[in-house]
Amino acid sequence: MLDDLLAFLRESPTPFHAVACATARLRAAGFREVAEADDWSSLAPGGYAFAHGGSSLLAFVIPEGKKIAGFRLVGAHTDSPNLRLKPSPEYRKEGYAQLGVEVYGGALLNSWLDRDLSLAGRVLLTTDSTALEIQLVRFTRPMLRVAQLAIHLDRDVNEKGLVLNRQEHLAPIFGLDREGSGSLYALIADHLGLASSRIKGSELMLYDVNPATLGGRDDEMIFSARLDNLAMSHAAIWSLIEASKKPDRDDLVPVAALFDHEEVGSETAYGAHSSFLPRALERIVTGRGGSREAFHRALAGSLCVSADMAHAVHPNYESRHEARHKPALNGGPVIKVNSQQRYATSGATAALFRSLCGRVGVPVQHYAHRTDLPCGSTIGPIASTLLGIRTVDVGNPMLSMHSIRELSGAQDPAMMTRVLTEFYGCDDLIPH
Ligand SMILES: [Zn+2]
Repeated sequence: MLDDLLAFLRESPTPFHAVACATARLRAAGFREVAEADDWSSLAPGGYAFAHGGSSLLAFVIPEGKKIAGFRLVGAHTDSPNLRLKPSPEYRKEGYAQLGVEVYGGALLNSWLDRDLSLAGRVLLTTDSTALEIQLVRFTRPMLRVAQLAIHLDRDVNEKGLVLNRQEHLAPIFGLDREGSGSLYALIADHLGLASSRIKGSELMLYDVNPATLGGRDDEMIFSARLDNLAMSHAAIWSLIEASKKPDRDDLVPVAALFDHEEVGSETAYGAHSSFLPRALERIVTGRGGSREAFHRALAGSLCVSADMAHAVHPNYESRHEARHKPALNGGPVIKVNSQQRYATSGATAALFRSLCGRVGVPVQHYAHRTDLPCGSTIGPIASTLLGIRTVDVGNPMLSMHSIRELSGAQDPAMMTRVLTEFYGCDDLIPH
């Protein structure tokens, strides 16, 4: 599964590509695609993939039984902090062609400097009818560079630290301002083999062309972009496919929910705050002939694992970590706890996850943020607020979270998928 994770990371420079890659894997495993406008009351037992807005995805397995006792949800997110093109990005300055960018999410800005960057995303195209067609686009050659100022022009940068103004200092160089050089849309149209007049809109973002790879003395680590949170998105999908091969129960619905927009607060049509997950869950129950009451009873029997990457202890900054909560790379999944409820884990859900780990022989670790530092959050508290279901926040340990190039353990992904596969079929009864 490690090779497949690396391929997934390489093929998914944007949330749109991540959803397309996950859908392709589900399709290959026999899952059928279903759209929001389809009639869900006629869905036969089996696996389904429901892409929402092109950047969020629900995958689920409808069981043979008519009565649904509960959902086994694994939530993750498809987006990662990055630089995105503004609507009118192209401009020329001092003999250079440049592109205006916005910062998406809490990116570590310094990590975007002096990288071989390219562009990916999607374009909206006119068709013969009034409908617009969406097409994914991805350049693979290095086309862009956010060049750092030479040290000779910024003498005390190493002592005083690098300060980057988001408007002034992050615009990548796209080339030299030469007579007759084509526009961005002309380049995209040429790349896709279509007339540039057909392009009516775009959502394009920058990414590092350096591919995901194993690293370290014994290849015991993964060096990659977007480990937060494509690593957990992949784990959710991989485990769902595994669990669908041997369903333990005919009244549970395993669901992988991959949301966009986690890095900007989730309050969007495609984020974890959207009603698309509760609506889809209700349609699954009613589609099997259940009533609204049956849907609410199914929620009462449901469990959620919110899977998002966790902070491993950093050897150069060990004092930034809580002394007795220092997850190790390749030490197994991490349960995240926060009394301010930045994580949704409760005593009961932590106990459930620990027992699942024990059942499949996987070690488990714990994370708590230093009490004097503000803690990050994830989709777990949102999903549990929206659905009122018991939730545990977990993730695999990593370093350099939100850098363009992150680092995780190479043995952790297989351990997490074993636990999640076990979770999808578990009938543990735990208190609220
Ligand atoms: Zn995350």
